[in-house]
Amino acid sequence: MLQNFIPYSTQSIDESDKAVVIQALLSSHLTQGNITKEFEAQVAAYVGTKYAISFNSATSALYAAYKALKEFVLQDIFQKDSHFVDSVNFKYARRHKTFSILTTPISFVATTNMMLAHDMQPIFGDITMHGNLKLDGLESLLRDDTIAICSVDYAGNSVDMEAFRQFTKKHNLIWISDSSHAFGGSFDNKKVGSMADMSIFSFHAVKPITTCEGGALVSNNDFFAKIAHRICNHGIEKKTLYNHDCVDIGFNFRLHEVGAALGLSQLKRIESFLAKREEIAQFYNAYLHNNPFFYLPKEQPLIKSTRHLYPILLDSRFICQKEHIANKLMERNVGVQVHYKPIYNFSLYRSFNYPILRNAEDFYHAELSIPCHQNMSLELAKKVADSIVSTFESFS
Ligand SMILES: *Cc1c(COP(=O)(O)O)cnc(C)c1O
Repeated sequence: MLQNFIPYSTQSIDESDKAVVIQALLSSHLTQGNITKEFEAQVAAYVGTKYAISFNSATSALYAAYKALKEFVLQDIFQKDSHFVDSVNFKYARRHKTFSILTTPISFVATTNMMLAHDMQPIFGDITMHGNLKLDGLESLLRDDTIAICSVDYAGNSVDMEAFRQFTKKHNLIWISDSSHAFGGSFDNKKVGSMADMSIFSFHAVKPITTCEGGALVSNNDFFAKIAHRICNHGIEKKTLYNHDCVDIGFNFRLHEVGAALGLSQLKRIESFLAKREEIAQFYNAYLHNNPFFYLPKEQPLIKSTRHLYPILLDSRFICQKEHIANKLMERNVGVQVHYKPIYNFSLYRSFNYPILRNAEDFYHAELSIPCHQNMSLELAKKVADSIVSTFESFS
């Protein structure tokens, strides 16, 4: 048994993080100050987008993204966009006020809950063996009111950004990327977040960098950025010092200065986090290679993963015992979790009578995320791996 509990993912906080947090706490502005502005500027520069808007969570940022999408259609903005001017689906959605979005069932439920919050219907496509939305066959799921696709970079592995860009162009869809797992990742040397129409990142404690709770929406689109900013700030548009106008039911979704200060400090450390996670993942790849109990994540040459998760897939012999195996591992201080139960199985989604998706079900039954994070040493990774192997042995 390991001496201490090892979570599947966790944050890293050092003296440099602590120092800037204390400094922010003692500064004149605890919210709506320059630190948040600086954090947003640095996130935009890091990803390579015109805009980055910070939020108190990725969930809030997703809410704002879908709102911006809806307004893009309802306000006829798409008619001013050469690419969408003839979009039959946008016109249909606008006329009938119904909206649907293609997405993946293998995600955290916030991805689609925030669609429901806007009366937008998720349409679930099946996934690939890597856990990402499969483009193959997705075309047949398009409806008259389908206006967007929301992909998720599962475990920190980017979707094939070129293929998604082509697919969304071909079908006149807006591309929203829930990249909550993938801040710092890339596809073919292009940063995650740089290609979708809107991308969302999470800075929750277990994600690649943290602001405790927090998130961001990045985009190159002026309209999307304007709406997102407005929703984050009470639906208020500021004109002069006190003469402002409220034009929508907005919220207070803002990230505070202390969180932004931590974010800036974490940004300085991100490359070391990613390198450490990669080192642990590569160790598992080599050390657990050819084990008879489970399959390792398949490497994809064009993708630089953030290794937010290290998902193993159990051999079919062990699937019935997965719950017992997971409990035994937890007892042995090996933190494991399953990512994810297909969203359409949740009670909230039952009434929609979604079809069961074969790959998503198989993936859910086989998947187990094992510890992989920047606070682990190679020595600890070896102990974790040995403990996992001996646990599986005891079940075979
Ligand atoms: C973590 C996560 C979210 C929610 O992020 P919060 O910052 O906790 O709101 C959304 N989608 C995915 C895929 C996530 O992993």
